Amino acid sequence: MKQLIILADMEGASGIFDSNQEAFLHEEMYPKQTLWRSYGRSCITSDVLAVCNAANDMGIDDILLYDMHFAGCRETNVELDKLPSNVRVFDLPDRSILWSRIRGQAAVEPYGIVTVGQHARNGEKDAYFPHTIHTPPLQSFFINGIHVAEIGEGVMCFCDVPYIANIGCAASHREARELSPDVTCITVKDKRTKWEPSPAETYPIIYEGVKEALKDYQNKTAYPYQQHCVCELNLTENYCFEAPESFPWKGEFRGRTAVWEAHDLETALSLFWRVHDHIKKRP
Ligand SMILES: [Zn+2]
Repeated sequence: MKQLIILADMEGASGIFDSNQEAFLHEEMYPKQTLWRSYGRSCITSDVLAVCNAANDMGIDDILLYDMHFAGCRETNVELDKLPSNVRVFDLPDRSILWSRIRGQAAVEPYGIVTVGQHARNGEKDAYFPHTIHTPPLQSFFINGIHVAEIGEGVMCFCDVPYIANIGCAASHREARELSPDVTCITVKDKRTKWEPSPAETYPIIYEGVKEALKDYQNKTAYPYQQHCVCELNLTENYCFEAPESFPWKGEFRGRTAVWEAHDLETALSLFWRVHDHIKKRP
């Protein structure tokens, strides 16, 4: 059985630009914004649908989708009723980012992973809405030397799984290629060239791109399993860590930086949220 993992964010979806950025503001957090429901959801749905249709036409049996944008909000961004019947979502409370639970629900050896709706990391130039998980307070997050944002977290959680394609803002591809240089990169908007196509225009680009990527499966590589993980989380200027008296992991807090070590990526990613609990706004 061929299982495809799809990780969807939304800032990098087709059709969402500076001029209509309210489209990615989830209604549960921004009840006065109507564009998320009236327009934004259809943008990321179109992108995810293109991936699913291409995957199914290439013989994928089972699709597991993690809709991670505004994790903590109950309602999905992707309109699930528009997707093919073999698409399932991870069972998570309010779509919470629980990486061990996410990894545990997938096959031991999924066929591949696709990231879609992806934005660039904080600090990348010519990017739409660049941020690292959430900036502020996060300035950067490194695992074994790679600046990791949403793409990196997901691909590292599924280490050793062939990374098939990244779809999103042109500037998001740098992170994807640092994780796996052979990943197919499909652009749906480009700030540098001011290319702002509609979801209807990018649908066939995504569909064909994912099909080509799957045809080239034998050349796809995975981010490899790591024997040891060294993590570093840096905060923006107005925040700092308030170190707890004691904590059960190996690491330290130094002002705006926290470092920790773990023996595997799942633990490293899970500790991220434990460390994150100690972020304080500077007085
Ligand atoms: Zn997002």
